[in-house]
Amino acid sequence: MSHPIYQTVIVGGGFNGLFTALHLAHQHYPRTVILIDKNERFCFKPLLYEYFDGEMDSSQVVPRFEELLKGSGVIFVQDTVQSIDLQQKEVKLASGNSYNYSNLVLSLGSVTSFRDVEGAQENALPFWTQEDAIAIDRHLRNCLYTALKTEDIEQRRKLLTVVIVGGGPSGVEMSATLGDFLPVWYDALKGNKNEIRVVLLNHGKEILSGDVNSHLRETAEQELPKCKVPIELITEAEVTAVHPDSIEYKHNGKLETLFASTIIWTAGSTTHPLILDLPIPKEHRDHRGRLTVTETMRLLDFPEVFAGGDCATVQNSSLPATAQVAYQQGATIAHNLKALALEEELKPVKVSLRGTLLKLGLDKAAANLADIFEIVGTPAHLIRQATYLTLLPTPIHDFKATTEWLDEEIFTNHIGSNDIGKKVVQAAEIVGAGVVGVLAARKLLQILGSDNNNNDT
Ligand SMILES: Cc1cc2nc3c(=O)[nH]c(=O)nc-3n(C[C@H](O)[C@H](O)[C@H](O)COP(=O)(O)OP(=O)(O)OC[C@H]3O[C@@H](n4cnc5c(N)ncnc54)[C@H](O)[C@@H]3O)c2cc1C
Repeated sequence: MSHPIYQTVIVGGGFNGLFTALHLAHQHYPRTVILIDKNERFCFKPLLYEYFDGEMDSSQVVPRFEELLKGSGVIFVQDTVQSIDLQQKEVKLASGNSYNYSNLVLSLGSVTSFRDVEGAQENALPFWTQEDAIAIDRHLRNCLYTALKTEDIEQRRKLLTVVIVGGGPSGVEMSATLGDFLPVWYDALKGNKNEIRVVLLNHGKEILSGDVNSHLRETAEQELPKCKVPIELITEAEVTAVHPDSIEYKHNGKLETLFASTIIWTAGSTTHPLILDLPIPKEHRDHRGRLTVTETMRLLDFPEVFAGGDCATVQNSSLPATAQVAYQQGATIAHNLKALALEEELKPVKVSLRGTLLKLGLDKAAANLADIFEIVGTPAHLIRQATYLTLLPTPIHDFKATTEWLDEEIFTNHIGSNDIGKKVVQAAEIVGAGVVGVLAARKLLQILGSDNNNNDT
């Protein structure tokens, strides 16, 4: 294979990698761009629950890279990265192909950590990717169908018990989704929905501890028991082993066993093994092994290499590993790659944390909007969905038109004339909800019965 001298390779097409590629294309970056991902589809992880429970379809939550990048000039390669040689500037793939680069962007994200708990990797279902969502869906359907035909009460109870391990945002959102969704499913099959149990096991005393969503803890604790199947929350439960049909945990000094056919694991992530394998010294990593990057998103030892999203940490700053951080960093990496190519000045990354959104059931959520105020229930659900719908990457030919249209709609056409209207519309804007969010905010106003000025465009 012959290699052009100036070639930028992006490894990993998630929030950081894909958005870097889209921004480069949009800015008419003068060099060849190759985006490598092991999957055929981008995965919009915050909406995986909606994909899983059928509220949204695959074209929205897991669109194909080929479709998103059509007409962009970005070369998409579906292959698994096996090794990265920073000295030789070469990326080796599972197919046997390899790519040399003049600039590299590391956007490999992070991976599920089973924390060395006995049997967890073999018997628990992770929830991290599209494949995981499909596997959980299949498994649960199978359990519900089998439960319908099972006379033995103990056996049926086990089939209808779901344990979610980890009271972080994923565990909370997953519990609430299942708490509302499983009874609807089972009811449709003519099963007795009262037999379903959804248990959330949390290691610490409090759920959402140390997370950007921690200020929504009280709301989550109040809302979880209100799901169609009330979520049973067990805190201070240290999981010690996972078996095919049960889970063991230490609670108040006693070893407990809970019988359940479905154990879903959301109890942590760890740094990608390819990132850990790189010859970067400990001093240039954080305590989790993530790569330290400068404010311009470059590695300290290899300035031609950029890194962002879950696999990097910016020097002198502490940002959460979230999608909103990863895609904003992608915009800076794209800007700086172009600046390097044109020998212009690089700019430091600026990430604005715009609030947090937590799914708390099929049509319920909690939204903390830039610490201005909190909304709970259906209105928050509308804002959450609208926010994410606006952030869904569009094919490149729509990219410019969409961003310009959103700006126009948000800043020119949609400022409510009453006080509540203004506040909610501003809040939707703050979280980046765009026009769909603004429209959702307006729907909220209708729900509240206070949208007196009917001037929607
Ligand atoms: C269930 C769930 C819900 C979440 N909800 C939210 C939320 O509500 N809000 C929020 O801000 N964040 C949320 N997050 C976190 C957010 O999704 C991540 O922080 C974000 O995806 C990080 O972006 P990234 O680009 O670093 O990694 P990713 O988006 O994970 O992308 C990494 C990419 O690298 C690819 N890849 C990995 N290994 C290889 C390899 N060897 N070869 C080739 N390709 C490879 C993967 O296929 C993937 O496409 C959620 C995460 C999960 C799992």
